[in-house]
Amino acid sequence: MPKPGPLSLNTVTVKERWGLAECIEGCARHGIPGISPWRDVLAAMGVQKAARRIRDAGLTVTGLCRGGMFTAPDAAGRRRAIDDNRRAIAEAFELGAACLVMVCGGLPPGSKDLPGAREMVRDGLHEILAEARAAGVTLALEPLHPMTCADRSVLSTLAQALDLCDQLGAGTGVALDVYHVWWDPDLERQMARAQGRIAAFHACDWLVPTTDTVFDRGMMGDGVIDIPRIRAIAEAAGYKGFVEVEILSKRWWQENPDDVLEVMKLRHTTAC
Ligand code: ZN
Repeated sequence: MPKPGPLSLNTVTVKERWGLAECIEGCARHGIPGISPWRDVLAAMGVQKAARRIRDAGLTVTGLCRGGMFTAPDAAGRRRAIDDNRRAIAEAFELGAACLVMVCGGLPPGSKDLPGAREMVRDGLHEILAEARAAGVTLALEPLHPMTCADRSVLSTLAQALDLCDQLGAGTGVALDVYHVWWDPDLERQMARAQGRIAAFHACDWLVPTTDTVFDRGMMGDGVIDIPRIRAIAEAAGYKGFVEVEILSKRWWQENPDDVLEVMKLRHTTAC
């Protein structure tokens, strides 16, 4: 099996202890060549300053997290979401990010209308697509595990994400997160469809038992996901990019970030 692509740090992995400045310095210090900031730490530093510092450190921005969250109970809420996505596209452009990761949104509060929520997602994406194309920012649709369908993403499978990409056309792709797709019996067939459209590869692991549906992700190698297998399928579908480590974990957030990065580097070579 070929070696995994270069490592990238998704800043959420160390979010309790490091802001963006520390993440940039940490990546440089540890020889990690990629970074993927979340917008909260980006806003705290300021986008232009962040872009300059990341460039000066020689890091590749493998993605910006995140756009999306299109679903809302009323038109005003949906409009605010569109406006926020426009700002996210501008930020991704400023950073030279490989993609803007899209977490599309769950059911609006109080709603049981799942098809309606999916329509809101499709409509929202349609509305921002021209702007993303003009900026050269790829919208990377990230299907999320169906357990988060109600509160985070009504986009649950790679098949759904690719159907949307088919409808939307140029300027769209998928963010493949092993945490969200590992269970999917249709994964290999869908990945073949994803040829040339995988914009990001997110790595972590699925722990048994999982104690929190969002904040109990594992370090690669500590759970049940066959990451090398999924990576091989992604590479067969043309993906040649970074392995971005994205671990939302109350446990890992307590650790010293320098230690987290050391473990990441080790597991990148042994478990990815
Ligand atoms: Zn992800």
